[in-house]
Amino acid sequence: MHYNYKYRLTPPEALEEELLFHVDTCRQLYNHVLHLLNETDDIPARYEVQERLPDLKSWWDDLGEVHSKVLQMVVKRVYDNISTLKAQKENGRAVGMLKWKPPREYRSLTYNQSGFELKNTSGRPTLWLSKIGEIPIHIHRDIPENATIKQVEVKRETTGEWYATFGINVDEDTPEKPENPERVVGIDVGILKYAHDTDGYAIKSPDFREEHERLERAQRDLSRKEHGSANWEKQRQVVAECHADLRRKRQDFLHKLSNYYAREYDLVAVEDLDAKGLIELPGNSRNRAGAAWGTFLRMLEYKCERKGTHFVAVDPRGTTKECASCGVKTDKPLWVREHSCPSCGFEADRDANAAWNILSRGLEDVGVGYSESTPVETALPVDTVVSAKRVVETGSPTLKERTASAVSE
Ligand SMILES: [Zn+2]
Repeated sequence: MHYNYKYRLTPPEALEEELLFHVDTCRQLYNHVLHLLNETDDIPARYEVQERLPDLKSWWDDLGEVHSKVLQMVVKRVYDNISTLKAQKENGRAVGMLKWKPPREYRSLTYNQSGFELKNTSGRPTLWLSKIGEIPIHIHRDIPENATIKQVEVKRETTGEWYATFGINVDEDTPEKPENPERVVGIDVGILKYAHDTDGYAIKSPDFREEHERLERAQRDLSRKEHGSANWEKQRQVVAECHADLRRKRQDFLHKLSNYYAREYDLVAVEDLDAKGLIELPGNSRNRAGAAWGTFLRMLEYKCERKGTHFVAVDPRGTTKECASCGVKTDKPLWVREHSCPSCGFEADRDANAAWNILSRGLEDVGVGYSESTPVETALPVDTVVSAKRVVETGSPTLKERTASAVSE
């Protein structure tokens, strides 16, 4: 299994200058390689370009100052970006040529396989980088003992902070998925509530209004400063910190929520996102919510994989319209929050009904029979209060707040 572990670096000034020099040399090489490739009609294989690096060094002195593996990774980066572009083209999206990188858009370098080492002499951990030196590193959580470190990416964030991200491999036995999953759950992700599941949990979307306001304020302040001045630069960092803060909090919420489901269940059923986005959302909110759901579902999928939990993404068509009890379809605009079946009389929260449909499709996909509890008995709104309490006990402080407010809905 592959993981990334990210740590803060605190290089003293001289080392920071050295790092910046290395990053900028890599950036120039990136642009040079791009230029070379644009000149030819026939794009050579990556290793052919990598083999030319020693020749380049004969007239380009700065390249000799950078570890050779790091330079090879620059070439790889160009090629990776090219394949990403190609992949997008196949999907019919409009793409331009790869762009020349200005310093602000090129802020990292990568050591692969060699040229780096984590050291811990005299109790102070450092990251040794070949041709750069030993940089103090803050190991806030240990890398697993049986892990192999494959590479390290050193990056200067827009906030000015340096980070090292280790790509590690851990040999571990993935637990087997149970043949007859007992603890099963269907989750409906939505706009008004972040998620609603078949155990009656309603999880409210996290409230980041304060963070958004702070960001907007910071951006307003930035626009009043003279572009490029020292004050402007300072304020730009404040803006970057606000962005980073929001991103961190969002990620944190998604991590905790996905951990919870992967840990507590044998089978988790969700809607297949690609089709979901097209269904009931108006344009603008679709993109933002869609991106967040995508992140959530990816996290959920790999965490289920790790825990040996079935992860099923089902066809989302009609999950809202169908009655979870009898299967009859009724049209239901977004503002109708209750499901009330004209055919069998089943009544439930709209999202609870959808979650039940998602679960039964998930069970069908995995080929598990499931008939003990019918939605009529279990999807009653009163569940919300009881189950939310369980999340409170097992969850995190942030999650606690959100679910607590979901109860009052
Ligand atoms: Zn019905």
